[in-house]
Amino acid sequence: METYIENKTMEKEGYFGIYGGQYINEELKIEFDNIYSKFLELKNDEDFQKELKDLLEHFSCRPTPVYFAKNLSQKTGCEIYLKREDLNHTGAHKINHCLGETLLAKKLGKKKVIAETGAGQHGVAMATAAALLGLECDIYMGEVDIQKAMPNVNRMKILGANVISVRSGQMTLKEAVDEAFSAYLKEYKTALYAIGSVVGPHPFPTIVEYFQSIVGKEAREQFIKMTGGLPDCVIACVGGGSNSIGIFDGFIDDAEVKIYGAEPLGKGEKIGENAASLTYGREGIIHGFKCLLLQNEDGTIADAYSVASGLDYPGVGPKHCYLKDIGRVEYKTINDVEAIDAFYELSRTEGIIPALESSHAVAYGLKFAKENKGKKILINLSGRGDKDIEFVMKNYPKAF
Ligand SMILES: *Cc1c(COP(=O)(O)O)cnc(C)c1O
Repeated sequence: METYIENKTMEKEGYFGIYGGQYINEELKIEFDNIYSKFLELKNDEDFQKELKDLLEHFSCRPTPVYFAKNLSQKTGCEIYLKREDLNHTGAHKINHCLGETLLAKKLGKKKVIAETGAGQHGVAMATAAALLGLECDIYMGEVDIQKAMPNVNRMKILGANVISVRSGQMTLKEAVDEAFSAYLKEYKTALYAIGSVVGPHPFPTIVEYFQSIVGKEAREQFIKMTGGLPDCVIACVGGGSNSIGIFDGFIDDAEVKIYGAEPLGKGEKIGENAASLTYGREGIIHGFKCLLLQNEDGTIADAYSVASGLDYPGVGPKHCYLKDIGRVEYKTINDVEAIDAFYELSRTEGIIPALESSHAVAYGLKFAKENKGKKILINLSGRGDKDIEFVMKNYPKAF
């Protein structure tokens, strides 16, 4: 992962341009330095790499394939390819960093992982990895989200995790992170905070990116093998930014490949109606790091909304903010209706039901295809839609 861009920006450890950093107390800085040193050591440790590779291959079915979507391609006049992260164990890319983080926790001698979850996807992947590696697992989840995502709550419980209901504020993801973090402050000597995306204070964005970069590494090799060349563009949805940075890493040094991130526009452009931090955010600090952040006029953190609950975070990974600033990646918005349309389109033309999060990437891919005939488009299908079926049937039924 020693890319041109990283070398240029990582002059100051943990910063991506002006974003990122470590806005935390001194005591925790020492602990985070320990975590980072261990991580750097393990990155170069053959046994660790072997253990991780074995888990990814045999437990989570990597490498996931790149699939040529023939029907969609015929319909749009482009060549559309999907990187099938939906075929991972637990149904999304999240298992990639959860296996990495739990292995790291073991090597640090920790007994427990602590994590937050929104819709329960990160919670389920983390509970899965913790069960496999014999770690205790505390998952903090807003009470509103618990009520909305009962099947995932039950999965976590079956897997042996403690699901802790958070009842402050909006009772959703932001508050869950707040509470998970304060619990971690009390337990950091025996526990590791296993964050759900490329967010949080240094070194978490770097660690999670490293574990997700396998997506781009595989995809680049697979794409070249299949087509003899590189795609014209790569597209992924952006919540916190982990699946997107994972696939982008594979192509960031290929100047001829255009890269697009699809952000959730939710119900509209007003603050509070969307979760498009890169488009409508202003520089600010959340959960110990600096990023483009959705804020109210008075500077308080705004509520974030998207039909895809895995995307509704008011901040975003610091590297994305930097990639936007330097113009390497363009961030586009997709609203709820466009995402739902893409959800049905992919289901009915290809027989693949995508997660609502991933549907944002598919929607932008379809938009791009309309305006750019004949191009080769690679879309990261970050997860499958099983978890969204009940919600879609209830709220967005379509004629059958
Ligand atoms: C959680 C989730 C996302 C959003 O998280 P990122 O860190 O932005 O990748 C996207 N897709 C799926 C399927 C998810 O579960």
